[in-house]
Amino acid sequence: MALIVKKFGGSSVATPEKIKNVAKRILSDKAPDDRIVMVVSAMGDTTDNLIALAGEVVEKPYHYAREMDMLMTTGEQVSIALLAMAFHSMGQPAISLTGAMAGMRTDSAHTKGRILGLHPERIHEELNKGNIVVIAGFQGTDDAGNPVTLGRGGSDTSAVAIAGAIGADTCEIYTDVDGIYSADPRVAKGARRMKEITYNEMLEMARLGAGVMQPRSVEMGQLYGIPIHVRSTFTSEPGTIIREEYTVEEKSFIIRGVTHDEHVSKITVLGVSNVPGIVHTIFSALADANIVVDMIVQSVRSAESNVTDVVFTVATIDAEEARQVVEGIAGEIKASAVAIDNDVAKVSIVGASMLGNPGIAARMFGALSNADINIEIISTSEISISCLIKGGSVKDAVNRIHDEFFPGAA
Ligand code: ASP
Ligand code: MG
Repeated sequence: MALIVKKFGGSSVATPEKIKNVAKRILSDKAPDDRIVMVVSAMGDTTDNLIALAGEVVEKPYHYAREMDMLMTTGEQVSIALLAMAFHSMGQPAISLTGAMAGMRTDSAHTKGRILGLHPERIHEELNKGNIVVIAGFQGTDDAGNPVTLGRGGSDTSAVAIAGAIGADTCEIYTDVDGIYSADPRVAKGARRMKEITYNEMLEMARLGAGVMQPRSVEMGQLYGIPIHVRSTFTSEPGTIIREEYTVEEKSFIIRGVTHDEHVSKITVLGVSNVPGIVHTIFSALADANIVVDMIVQSVRSAESNVTDVVFTVATIDAEEARQVVEGIAGEIKASAVAIDNDVAKVSIVGASMLGNPGIAARMFGALSNADINIEIISTSEISISCLIKGGSVKDAVNRIHDEFFPGAA
């Protein structure tokens, strides 16, 4: 007997036909005494459409974050109800549960909620009755009972958190790609599928733009020690397992992946006083507004000059708010101007063994320079190096860097 959490993303349940196929696949894969908990996303582009709908009523939907959560949580409620019905029609007992009913407790940070804990009693109760339990991903409830969503792509996080809380044997993430690749296969011709990847490397790849998994879901998996098996809804390919350590020998590449992120914006704060406390003032204001800052550079203009420029990047969706925040304190920090540049992208390499291998950065910069791509900002972590470049060069950059580190991998 196995207790398995299976998460199906929006593309897997995009149409009534696909919903029925998911139900069929679950039943044909299921051993008689398997206990199955499903976590499901909204159908297809539903979440995007709901956000667009709000945009037709008000100019800044995210300004009304609680109501956005009320709106967006309806998407998952549609798919869980339909999937539970599909099971019933096939003679399989099943029940759909909202995040709240499943015991998913979050803080009150609407549209970017964090999971505080899960009370899984109801889930166990329903499993004991013989049900397949179909839970709405991406949502939970705060202390006051308000619906709270977990940020875009949050169903992955729901699934792994639920798997951890109920002590599942594994958490399977079914999606429209058949595993984790060394780069986005739509962009890099030579991208290869990996059999395994460690939590740390996957986390770094997800943070740096690999769209497959929401980063927090990988953190959850690591926290609870739940292996996460990413595989295709539409094929029976073996997929990729995200776990603590490698268990199979794969040709050892120092770099595990090349990622890119086009949803970044660069904000330049020009001519601020070069005195202690200015950078603290800027980033405290941004932190108070809950804006995550990524790369940061403070330029040194010249020894005599008493002004400097501060440049940083944020997710494009936060860029306008970040600009307003900085403009709000422009007087205090004596900034002469604040500018946004949305035409930038970040390209990164990730690999846990780069620490002990000198020259990796030089090879990355070399690949970019051979393609005549200018690097605007560089940042590094123990297991990654990122470069901010012009948005238009991103595909070329990914391919050049991938070819450098994965020669002939296609
Ligand atoms: N439906 C939500 C979204 O589109 C959550 C998810 O799919 O994971 O972001
Ligand atoms: Mg998703």
